[in-house]
Amino acid sequence: MDTTRRKIFQSFVAAGIAAAVSSKARADGVSPSTTLPDDPIPQPERPGLGGTDPGPRDVAIDKQNPDLLAPPPSDAGTVPNLKWPFSLSHNRLSPGGWARQTTIQQLPVSTEMAGVDMRLNPGAIRELHWHPVGEWGFVTLGSIQITCLDAGGRMYVDNLKQGDLWFFPESYPHSLQAFGGVGSEFVLVFTDGDYSENDTFLLSDAFAHLPKDVLAKNFGVPVSEVSNLASPDSRYIYPGPIPPTHVNVPRPYGYPPKAFGYHTANNKPIFQSEAGTIRIVDSSSFPVTGVSVMLVTVNPGYMREIHWHGDDEWQYYLQGQARLTAFASSGTAATFDYRAGDVGYVPSNYIHYEVNTGNTPLQFMEVFRSPTLNNFSLAQWMGVTPPWLVQGDLNLSNAFMNKLPTTTPWIV
Ligand code: MN
Ligand code: MN
Repeated sequence: MDTTRRKIFQSFVAAGIAAAVSSKARADGVSPSTTLPDDPIPQPERPGLGGTDPGPRDVAIDKQNPDLLAPPPSDAGTVPNLKWPFSLSHNRLSPGGWARQTTIQQLPVSTEMAGVDMRLNPGAIRELHWHPVGEWGFVTLGSIQITCLDAGGRMYVDNLKQGDLWFFPESYPHSLQAFGGVGSEFVLVFTDGDYSENDTFLLSDAFAHLPKDVLAKNFGVPVSEVSNLASPDSRYIYPGPIPPTHVNVPRPYGYPPKAFGYHTANNKPIFQSEAGTIRIVDSSSFPVTGVSVMLVTVNPGYMREIHWHGDDEWQYYLQGQARLTAFASSGTAATFDYRAGDVGYVPSNYIHYEVNTGNTPLQFMEVFRSPTLNNFSLAQWMGVTPPWLVQGDLNLSNAFMNKLPTTTPWIV
């Protein structure tokens, strides 16, 4: 078979699989995608629309983004890009680990929040530093020790493990250090999409750029004591010994009134069923935080229901794969596919859902630059609104009206 014939043949095979999946998907009430990630060569086609792509093309990327290649018919107009895989971010390698980020440079729509994916080898230290934006963190691997000084001169030290999180308010100086074993990996969210991890105020950088006689006077030591300090080039993330579990620090002003770390083991899910699980961590249980999060697990065959928020949503996919459509008003909508390691971003008020498109649990987080989390369920809103308004707006049947819930379904 020559190349063209093979491509035509493959597109027929793909169409056959798509037809089979479409009927199953319709039975599930989920809008079908005619191009599947495991198709041999996905083609930008839908019945009566599009055509094959003879190339040049990047088939691996096409397979990961079937809804960009062949969008569902409900997509329309121009919607900002809402996806950025950390794998496409430039990495910064340091002696003790690495860090890569997603700011408005990578994802222009993400004006309210920037994200960082950081790895600390066992014992490695993220140097003492501070910055003009708040920092929310979530441990995705291993365990770390965090330190943070509050504005009353009170030191906080805590040990966090996988699934735990922290919040450091703007300007509060802090550090991170991995424990042993696998070390640690975590994601950070900064409360400004234009803030770069490479712009933080580092202790070694500050010492390198203050006059030596001023440093000597400040600390009451001879100039010789500040003449051979570590170079900032050798710091940022650098190797260190495994920290002790129990740490004693001077406390002339007592303990900070609010904890900067949050232990997720204490969290009760707000929703739990065979469909999945939802946990919320916001200022009601973590008073210091300026950032709130919804931790979502959607089991295979289920979907995080159609909803929206009053705040921009920064997403990070931890496990599995998902499809999301964002309706952006004015007749525009776009559909995106996500998998573990991807960042998603949904501007406030954009209606969206996340359907599990894989056969393993989908795990992701919805992060908001707001101390309290708000969520509007499309179905619940319609279920408690005077019925003649809902029925009249959409010309709905009585059978449909009878199915409307009065409480939030969360995952369906
Ligand atoms: Mn920081
Ligand atoms: Mn959401």
